[in-house]
Amino acid sequence: MAVILRPKHVKGLWAEGTPEVVLPADRTPTTYRRRQVQFLAGNPAAFAPQETSEPNAAYIGMGAWRVTCTCGEAPHADPEWLLSCCFGCGLIWTNVTFPANWATIETLLILRRVAWQRNWRMPETYADLVAEQIAYGDPVP
Ligand SMILES: [Zn+2]
Repeated sequence: MAVILRPKHVKGLWAEGTPEVVLPADRTPTTYRRRQVQFLAGNPAAFAPQETSEPNAAYIGMGAWRVTCTCGEAPHADPEWLLSCCFGCGLIWTNVTFPANWATIETLLILRRVAWQRNWRMPETYADLVAEQIAYGDPVP
């Protein structure tokens, strides 16, 4: 079953070769933040993690929830955690905003057979996505 990726789904954030293997059941906002600290400790060019409460609107890019970070990275975001940790610069976005119908958008986009066509960004409406989906020839729920 396809999913729109969130940090907990991204194996590279948690897998072997990292300082700590975090099993799927243990992937939480707390372990996500801890994983960011571990990652940044290995990058002398990065800053220490720092929270920002600036609002940042999430989007779906190539099948993953993301935000645009001020450093230019596009770190993963989670609509249930309302959080995004940038592994590039160390910012922790604590005020990530999601559309009220984020789950409905996910349900539609996961039906697209090609992952790189799973995209959504404000101000696209659900109706816009449905029209796009029909044009792609993918099913609509
Ligand atoms: Zn960043």
